[in-house]
Amino acid sequence: MCLFRTGRPPASGLFSAPMSYSCRYRCVGTEETFPVDQVIYRSPTTGELLEVEHDLAALKDRSPASWIKLFDERKGSNKWPYASGVWGKKEWVMPGIDDNNIVSLHEGHTNLFWAERYGASLGLDDLWIKLCGNSHTGSFKDLGMTVLVSVVKQMISQGTPIQAIVCASTGDTSAALAAYCAAAGIRAVVLLPAGKVTTAQLVQPLANNALVCALDTDFDGCMAIVKRLAEEDGIYLANSMNSLRLEGQKTVGIEVVQQFDWQVPDWVIIPGGNLGNVSALGAGFDMLEALGLITRRPRICVAQAQAANPLYLAYQKGWHTFEPITAQPTEASAIRIGNPVSFQRAVRTLEKYEGVVEQASEKELSEAAAAADRTGTFACPHTGVALACLSKLIGSKQIKPGDRVVVVSTASGLKFTDFKIRYHEQRLRDIDSDLPNQPKSLPNDYEAVKRAVLNSI
Ligand SMILES: *Cc1c(COP(=O)(O)O)cnc(C)c1O
Repeated sequence: MCLFRTGRPPASGLFSAPMSYSCRYRCVGTEETFPVDQVIYRSPTTGELLEVEHDLAALKDRSPASWIKLFDERKGSNKWPYASGVWGKKEWVMPGIDDNNIVSLHEGHTNLFWAERYGASLGLDDLWIKLCGNSHTGSFKDLGMTVLVSVVKQMISQGTPIQAIVCASTGDTSAALAAYCAAAGIRAVVLLPAGKVTTAQLVQPLANNALVCALDTDFDGCMAIVKRLAEEDGIYLANSMNSLRLEGQKTVGIEVVQQFDWQVPDWVIIPGGNLGNVSALGAGFDMLEALGLITRRPRICVAQAQAANPLYLAYQKGWHTFEPITAQPTEASAIRIGNPVSFQRAVRTLEKYEGVVEQASEKELSEAAAAADRTGTFACPHTGVALACLSKLIGSKQIKPGDRVVVVSTASGLKFTDFKIRYHEQRLRDIDSDLPNQPKSLPNDYEAVKRAVLNSI
């Protein structure tokens, strides 16, 4: 049996659910609502970003136990589209979508593993890493992109004249957009800051035949241009201003709880740049609570690179002022953002989840990634930021030795091999690596190899 698509199932099958469920866009300020298949990103009245609101009353037709049973059954299923970690929660994500319009590359269901030795090195027994980078394009962005591109496919099938989907990106959003658009047969256009994404991130959208525009600016500059581009007819915007993506990304929190047999961890640490993902994380927990599957909340820490820390600075000032900054170069290039579009959303989430914000310097993030790698990870620099912030929260005693902590690893380290090579070759800018490891060049000679091995043990 094929693990992916086994042909489209009949409308009613083992996993079919009543389709009275629905969701819509809602303006937080004015309560106005709009259909999710309308081309709209902000409230026409307040200019605020729109939220996706689900009909929770309808979803309450199932008991918490019955949702748990349904989601657990789908976890091992091969039935289209439920094998995907996102579409296995379809009723909570985007219930109105026709299964024929779903564009899925089997995203989600990423591993959550016990980081036993790294946790022990920090005095923590119960540290877990959620490896969201183990995904089709190597980052959590796939979770949101499957939802957005599926909705666009449905809109096109209904006659909405969309010719292309565009995004500005620090590298991972464009890789995901290009892949899902290629799978759907929709034109993708990506705006990247020239020279500020990794080789892997650049070649991904090129390979998927997106129009790749490398602009002589930073991410915030690309974002300013893409917002204007999205005003043109036929162009649809895929940045996280578009809250459809957050509906898919929301499944990370739900999946973590599911992987703990529906228990809630004490802390979740998540790297943040544009801050859509932390808002999505909170939205997943919100839904679990609203529908009675959990009764307590985790605390959330957003981890920022010191070079791109506008949320950290605002947090230090008690949220009273928010000043966009010009983000400085950081190895954590996917979070090099000075003017996050989801700032307000993130503050709402952090207030609800007793949130904190920490930051990590280039030295701290590099050493944390390297130290964790020596216990079996292959951490991307953003995960390094989260791991460094974890150490700080343990140091400040906010995280206690007995706490269950989940670090969200946002991308595959394999997209950031250049960072790791430079670390181990002592070539990171202004950083003296503490734990470098180099290949040993040896002659083709048994005794020389034997000596090297015996000397190392
Ligand atoms: C996009 C991204 C982030 C940041 O997510 P936001 O929603 O922008 O806060 C973090 N890490 C990686 C690897 C990313 O691609």
